[in-house]
Amino acid sequence: MTSPCLICGSRDKRFKFIAVDRLHALPGSFRVMRCRKCGALMLDPQPSMKDIGKYYPSEYHAYAHYDPGTKKEKFAISMYKLFFKPGGNPLKKLLFLPFKHLLRGTHIVPGGRILDVGCGSGAFLYKMQSAGMEAFGVELSPDGAREAQRLGLKVKCGTLEQQKYPSNYFDVITLNHVFEHVPSPMRTLRELKRILKPDGRIIIAVPNARSLACKLFGRHWASLDAPRHLSIPTPRGMRIAAEQAGLNLKKVRFISFPFQFQASLAYVFHPGARVPLDKTWLGESRLAYWLLFPLVYLVDFLRIGDVIETTMTKNS
Ligand SMILES: [Zn+2]
Repeated sequence: MTSPCLICGSRDKRFKFIAVDRLHALPGSFRVMRCRKCGALMLDPQPSMKDIGKYYPSEYHAYAHYDPGTKKEKFAISMYKLFFKPGGNPLKKLLFLPFKHLLRGTHIVPGGRILDVGCGSGAFLYKMQSAGMEAFGVELSPDGAREAQRLGLKVKCGTLEQQKYPSNYFDVITLNHVFEHVPSPMRTLRELKRILKPDGRIIIAVPNARSLACKLFGRHWASLDAPRHLSIPTPRGMRIAAEQAGLNLKKVRFISFPFQFQASLAYVFHPGARVPLDKTWLGESRLAYWLLFPLVYLVDFLRIGDVIETTMTKNS
């Protein structure tokens, strides 16, 4: 008997293809199945937590050193305040609208608590702290957690469940490309619900297994990222998962990047050889990145982009 879908619990799944690690070109092959109820893609069988550790080498991007003092960072903080703090100037918002696509979704509650699960080196949390929030984080990597602690953020190393946060504690909880890495998304959602304040919100950004890029590129789709992505949901799957955890899915925003086309094409051009992405000319090309941006705005407008950001609230 096949294992249940990680997102919706259905056992009705179909074999899609065998995937390999394209990002770091580490050895191993992984069977990918699609859930016929919610459309999610997932590894089946799931790798053990012990095995998966070796697919997160030290150069993994989330652990990069973060410098908060640059002009670019100061501008980013001002953009977060403009778009996500209540009462921003509407004219200024209109003027800077194209930049909104580059920002992570959040909600700034002055004096409120924000938790970023899988916060990496703390680049996002630092911005939230600068915007007036009390910033908490959880990070599995000791290197990432150390970097974030260095910035004065309340970051713990370990899993979310290990932290035993009080119930009804956070105003905002964010997960940016983390949900697809957790071994039990349903359990994670229930824990998030427990620690969220009754009027709080959970904002989760994940790849979209119903995107145009997923359909076009199949096993070459860059956001597949086997075996680090244990499951990849769809908008419908996120709605079902939210309901099963007792949450309301309020909003789905499409926030994809040129990566979906650029990296997937780089993988297509190197089909046999396992070449790490940053060793290919296309994967590195800034020109290709900017040329592809109009296409990204189009697929997101059509709601077939390959990254979705869902906002959930508590039922009460
Ligand atoms: Zn499912």
